[in-house]
Amino acid sequence: MKQQKYYNFLQKQILLMIGLSLIPGIVYVFFGWAFNILIPALLWYISLIFISLYGIAVYRYFSNNKMNEEQLSRWYKHLTVFMYLIFSSWAVIFILNIQYTEYNLHYIAIFTELGAAVVASALLVSDKKLFMSILWTLMLPLVIYFSLLGTWFGYVLSVFSLIFLGVLLYAAYNTNHLIRTNYYQAQHDMLTGLYNRRYFMEYMEPLHQRLLEKNKISYMLLIDLDHFKMINDSLGHEIGDKLLIAVAKRLAAYSKDKYILARLGGDEFILVSDELDKTKETQEEAHNFALRLLDEIRRPYSIETHHLHISASIGLHELENFSLDSSNFIKEVDIAMYEAKSKGRDGVIVFNKDLSERVERHLEIEQRLHQTLNGNRLKVYYQPQFDRDSKIVGCEALVRWFDDDLGELSPDEFIPIAENTGLILELGSYVLYETFKVLHGWNEEGHYLQNFAINISIRQLLYEPFIEEVEVLMKYYFSKEDLSQKIIFEITEHVFSQDMDKVVKTMKRLQKLGIIFSIDDFGTGYSSLSYLQELPIGEVKIDKAFIAGLGSNGNSEKMIGTIISIAKNFNLKIVSEGVEEASQFEALQAYDCDIFQGFYFDEALPKEAFEQKYFTT
Ligand code: C2E
Ligand code: CA
Ligand code: CA
Repeated sequence: MKQQKYYNFLQKQILLMIGLSLIPGIVYVFFGWAFNILIPALLWYISLIFISLYGIAVYRYFSNNKMNEEQLSRWYKHLTVFMYLIFSSWAVIFILNIQYTEYNLHYIAIFTELGAAVVASALLVSDKKLFMSILWTLMLPLVIYFSLLGTWFGYVLSVFSLIFLGVLLYAAYNTNHLIRTNYYQAQHDMLTGLYNRRYFMEYMEPLHQRLLEKNKISYMLLIDLDHFKMINDSLGHEIGDKLLIAVAKRLAAYSKDKYILARLGGDEFILVSDELDKTKETQEEAHNFALRLLDEIRRPYSIETHHLHISASIGLHELENFSLDSSNFIKEVDIAMYEAKSKGRDGVIVFNKDLSERVERHLEIEQRLHQTLNGNRLKVYYQPQFDRDSKIVGCEALVRWFDDDLGELSPDEFIPIAENTGLILELGSYVLYETFKVLHGWNEEGHYLQNFAINISIRQLLYEPFIEEVEVLMKYYFSKEDLSQKIIFEITEHVFSQDMDKVVKTMKRLQKLGIIFSIDDFGTGYSSLSYLQELPIGEVKIDKAFIAGLGSNGNSEKMIGTIISIAKNFNLKIVSEGVEEASQFEALQAYDCDIFQGFYFDEALPKEAFEQKYFTT
């Protein structure tokens, strides 16, 4: 497929060729008058004028229209016809003139034919098919003419004409090859042979125009292979490259004629459909196409000795009145693709405004979080925990963020963002420092809590300097001997899907410092129980979702029963969180649960309020 731009060169030759025909053409009319063949010469010139008018129409259509594939190929046909006609008209001069016995007319004929051939090889150099056929059309009559003279020098000139034709063809062919290679390289990705980003961006411009003019829609798909880096890293770049080539081939075969396909870079491919009507059918069609494309990508690959499987995350975007700012439309389809990734990969997500608003909010939170960490807009609240007799035995530290612009943000919203961006390390340090200081203060005043729980993210746990940080704080505020309460780090089961060796080492070292671990949201994540034995775990927290299901959901009750019997078997303390009602409290007491936390008792409170309420009585 070629772009309009590619034909720019040929389009320019139209005017040049008209000029090179009409102006010398007048001289040929004069020749006709001088050698008494005025009528045929005039008729010839008139036909030349008509051909030129046709050429001008072809020229103008090109300038005035942004054409799609189909229109472009139709235009090209017209251009070809024009070129054949105008060059043939010079062959006609040759044939016309040699019919007369007048020698001078023969000189004119021969010169004309040679001249036209040279012009053709220069003007049509960008189009191989065109210059090849036109050169033959112009030179063959000359070859025949010389050979028909019947003299020895006629034969020699005939051969020379053939050689001359060969030289012209050779020169034009070489230049043409060079032009095409350059053009190809500028537009294509060298590895896969697909179009490259540059071509794609250029393609979008006229598409944008057409969509606006015709009030139509295009579908765009951004495809990013899942875990490609892993294949690259484990099997080497050579295999990685071969896999990319294989994927590209499948994509190309599958999207042929329907979509323009390009490789944006790395393992990212992009497709855009032609202009379509915005209807339910085309929408469904595009969505189904994306799903089938995913199936296609998923089929196993056999590369060298490897049998490889790969899936992809696909963002689908309907382009309608889109802004031509390329970073924008790619950004939007990118958002959809990332959503597919975060939804567990191997899927298709359609872009919509909600999604983009959410992403914008994410970005805003991320930015504000940066500032907040510097400006200390974060607070730590403390939610009390109780024993079976409703006596306070501990608390969980929960971070709070009050932003001037965004208002109060839930940790459920900003903690995942902090985790994704790495800001959790800084945030975690702040919480750690703050909570240790507060607990120390309480101890100084003679208030001791059995349990003091702090949430620790997996990123923190696996962060090398974290242990040292804890060590310094422990040494500064508490020595192991006078630690009359438990400092508990709440971690989630996701920890166990990570580098287990490292997790075990870290946890054991922290245990030596006097830290106890609690499994938060127990029962919602990774289900292997072996770690309960291997790791220094002192407590599990039954997730609030199970507590909420008490009394109404049989499965929740079974789950709670199971968790409690497991915990008892491993000698672990059991904390129920999210206790909101007396009935839940009673039921959990009956289950022999140890510690209770939830709105039934109290919510998380600022330090001062907590002290007021629980330390003054
Ligand atoms: P989590 O560790 O499961 O914390 C318990 C959450 O349940 C808290 O929400 C708490 O306010 C809420 N909650 C307590 N009692 C009840 C109840 O009776 N009913 C209901 N529906 N909810 C109750 P919060 O404070 O919004 O925290 C949400 C999550 O954010 C936490 O879940 C925890 O995973 C994370 N988080 C909070 N603070 C920190 C922190 O300092 N560091 C890290 N890494 N994560 C934190
Ligand atoms: Ca927790
Ligand atoms: Ca929890």
